[in-house]
Amino acid sequence: MKKFGRSTGFAVSTLVAAMSFAGMAQAGITDKDILADQMTTDDVVSNGLGPRGQRYSPLATLNTETVKELRPVWSFSFGGEKQRGQESQPMVKDGVMYVTGSYSRVFAIDAKTGEELWEYNARLPDGIMPCCDVINRGVALYDDLVIFGTLDAKLVALNKDTGKVVWKKKVADYKEGYSLTAAPLVVKGKVITGVSGGEFGIVGKVEAYDAKTGDIVWTRPTVEGHMGYIWKDGKKVENGISGGKPGQTWPGDLWKTGGAATWLGGTYDPETDLMFFGTGNPAPWNSHLRPGDNLFSSSRLAIDPDTGKIVWHFQTTPHDGWDFDGVNELISFDYSEGGKTVKAAATADRNGFFYVLNRENGDFIRGFPFVDKITWAEGLDDQGRPIFKEGGRPGNPADTDGKKGEPVVSAPSFLGGKNWMPMAYSQDTGLFYVPSNEWAMDIWNEPVSYKKGAAYLGAGFTIRPMNDDYIGVLRAIDPKNGKEVWRYENYAPLWGGVLATKGNLVFTGNPEGYLMAFDAKSGEMLYKFQTGSGIVGSPITWEMDGEQYVSVVSGWGGAVPLWGGEVAKRVKHLNQGGSVWTFKLPKES
Ligand code: CA
Ligand code: CA
Repeated sequence: MKKFGRSTGFAVSTLVAAMSFAGMAQAGITDKDILADQMTTDDVVSNGLGPRGQRYSPLATLNTETVKELRPVWSFSFGGEKQRGQESQPMVKDGVMYVTGSYSRVFAIDAKTGEELWEYNARLPDGIMPCCDVINRGVALYDDLVIFGTLDAKLVALNKDTGKVVWKKKVADYKEGYSLTAAPLVVKGKVITGVSGGEFGIVGKVEAYDAKTGDIVWTRPTVEGHMGYIWKDGKKVENGISGGKPGQTWPGDLWKTGGAATWLGGTYDPETDLMFFGTGNPAPWNSHLRPGDNLFSSSRLAIDPDTGKIVWHFQTTPHDGWDFDGVNELISFDYSEGGKTVKAAATADRNGFFYVLNRENGDFIRGFPFVDKITWAEGLDDQGRPIFKEGGRPGNPADTDGKKGEPVVSAPSFLGGKNWMPMAYSQDTGLFYVPSNEWAMDIWNEPVSYKKGAAYLGAGFTIRPMNDDYIGVLRAIDPKNGKEVWRYENYAPLWGGVLATKGNLVFTGNPEGYLMAFDAKSGEMLYKFQTGSGIVGSPITWEMDGEQYVSVVSGWGGAVPLWGGEVAKRVKHLNQGGSVWTFKLPKES
């Protein structure tokens, strides 16, 4: 059996070597490579290990038997005096790793040795306004380009061999509060980006640029009332898709500064040819200033990659009053029920509910709480709309002294039942592995008016733990019935992404610094390794010279230490860092 495995491995790697040689002679990474990413185990060329974002690998050399022997082979330091949160997912192509660090840095590293090939360091202006740490979540790869977004709201394309700038585009004005932190998405030769800045009264949007030239193709604002545009022969024309008229779900002029930031980027499903982007909170946080549903805030949007048209929308928190951004990743997956294949997509929202949608039309299939406590809603109705709980919404300052509204205790806290950290879907177990947190907040409203480039909240808050011994909970969730199959409780809040593999393994990291591997079926922890700083990035796995590798970035930071209130005190002893670790099994002698 072993012999057979080895000889097959030899044949495959010879073939792969021949293919990658041919690939180098041609033009670099293609749309086909990106679409095939999940099944091509010798590279990682998309955020989410495939555009659907399942974060599932068919590799099984590392499995529940062998993972205990996993060893680090190299660790690479991002260096510099500036550290803070490292939330990147590395990419790997032809033996080179491309990974981003805090403060808009990109590194190309020899994946075999950990030696640096080049570094690009964006020179950021003094006035950048990242709400939630100076993080970056990774690059996109296309042709011979490494493309990423900067904290001063630019897209930068670098030559993959030299790290030199090939093109650079301003996506938005950082002085108004815009920044870029998500990994861009490449679909059909276009690089697609959202924007961050929902705490500054910006207007969210999704934009497509020609990946090779950086020329804009279309723009799609995500607040109802704003017009979308498409560029034809270099000319900007209305694309006839208005995204609704002003004033329908917003009072007065508030739609002009309505937030709905698309700050976590998107996923793409080639089967339906739709991109799925989430949108953040409506601005300001004080919901009494903006009665109505405030479309398209706190929603998932299905967008046509050719035109920017919103094909369908599903709003998780209409008239949000808790900062329940609806940005979390919507992951396409199929399951069978009653002999039929359901083309579904799932998402675990900040508001504490897990949603299964029909990805063709956005119809609600089912939803259920995935956290232990939800204070603001009784449940979901048959359309998936929340049934608001009486007294669950922080009060209107106008009803008290005009300065501070009645506070409420709310769970989840605004940092969410789940925040940005991506979950994984295993094609073998049919379960989602959800990095979640149990925490509550005191929240109250205050008066506020919009001022360009200033925080636009109209709210105050304190986040607090709900349990003495844990905040983070990694959950295995069955999307067919909402059942929690197993859970792992972690003292600090979980803030890193998850990876599932054919080897019946689930990988994630924690702020305490451990890379951990669990049995995907039982939840038993089979492996942990201390990386020296907190893990708030997303692990990957790939194959090189017939061996399976795992990589993850390490570097504690992100929103929790900045916004976490009582929770921030609980984790203030954790040290910062900035490195990428790579692991494999020892070579058989
Ligand atoms: Ca691949
Ligand atoms: Ca927000």
